Amino acid sequence: MALKTTAEALYNRNHILESFERAVDTDDMQEREKLLTFVVVGGGATGVELAGALAEMRRFVLRKDYPDLDVDKMRIILVDGKDRLLYSFKPKSSREAEEYLRYRGVELKQKTRVLGYENEVLRLSNEEIPTANVFWTAGVIANSMGGFSSDMYGHGNRLIIDEFNRVGGYKNVFALGDTALMKQKDWPDGHPQVAQPAMQQADNCADNILAMEDGEALKPFKYHDRGSMATIGRNHAVVETKGLVFGGFLGWLVWLVIHLMNIVGFKNRLLIFIDWVWSYFTHNSNLRIVVRPLIKGDRLYRLMKAQEQIREQKYKKTDNS
Ligand SMILES: Cc1cc2nc3c(=O)[nH]c(=O)nc-3n(C[C@H](O)[C@H](O)[C@H](O)COP(=O)(O)OP(=O)(O)OC[C@H]3O[C@@H](n4cnc5c(N)ncnc54)[C@H](O)[C@@H]3O)c2cc1C
Repeated sequence: MALKTTAEALYNRNHILESFERAVDTDDMQEREKLLTFVVVGGGATGVELAGALAEMRRFVLRKDYPDLDVDKMRIILVDGKDRLLYSFKPKSSREAEEYLRYRGVELKQKTRVLGYENEVLRLSNEEIPTANVFWTAGVIANSMGGFSSDMYGHGNRLIIDEFNRVGGYKNVFALGDTALMKQKDWPDGHPQVAQPAMQQADNCADNILAMEDGEALKPFKYHDRGSMATIGRNHAVVETKGLVFGGFLGWLVWLVIHLMNIVGFKNRLLIFIDWVWSYFTHNSNLRIVVRPLIKGDRLYRLMKAQEQIREQKYKKTDNS
């Protein structure tokens, strides 16, 4: 399971909840073990946040919503190829994330590569893990587009752009954000694939398009790094900004405030704030429902079909009479 679009996030939520439901239903111990093993692949900010969130789910949700399940049977494993988590952060933040996740019972498998996943068995470089839940957070690959030759793409399938966000020497074709790769002195591998470079490039590009219309000189893009943050769990985050590196509860508060302020619209901000406060104190999220169209094999689907048939037969009888 990937974690990029809203649809994928909904799919993942359904999948997690369904794994719990199926684990309660089965008497097969091996099957239950598989359903209760959650593996996150990739120890960047997304992987760390997801593993932390699953650990909080085990702590608060599983215990409450599935009293028949033995919480200790739920395994959360974070697999990463590097020797430290949050590799783009400072080592202090990596250490903090590793210590906190271990403290919350997340099994860390570092310097370990995933080789494949088949028949609900995840193959690692040094072992195999039976699991029904594998989340891929080990990086994104940009979509390519016809019309650009392969030498116009750099690593991660990102379009190589110049300092004015222009692609392949064209004057009027631009690429921005995750899909673009601008190598600069301070950023020899391009800018990080996070929101800030995308937003700053958009501002720069818009100004330059207006400047082009007015026949003025273009302004080269300069990235203002405002820092990085990642939540590791309830009350815990790491923050790096302007030379400061801190974490714990303060980091978590800073994370909350900054993310809240970036939500569009006062009404949304207020509603999300109320929702967060409610969830924080009650551990009760109204999102714990499985929402998806019915699938042919579902029990409910079969039940509905059976009811439809009964209804049809009934109407046929009435018509005939
Ligand atoms: C789980 C997760 C958590 C993240 N958390 C953070 C965070 O906390 N802070 C942070 O700064 N960043 C975070 N990021 C990264 C951040 O979301 C991206 O860096 C940012 O969205 C990049 O903006 P963008 O406009 O370049 O691309 P996107 O936001 O991905 O937008 C690209 C758009 O282009 C559309 N598109 C793609 N191909 C085509 C096509 N061929 N034709 C038409 N449309 C197309 C896509 O549907 C999409 O709407 C996170 C990413 C993920 C996956």
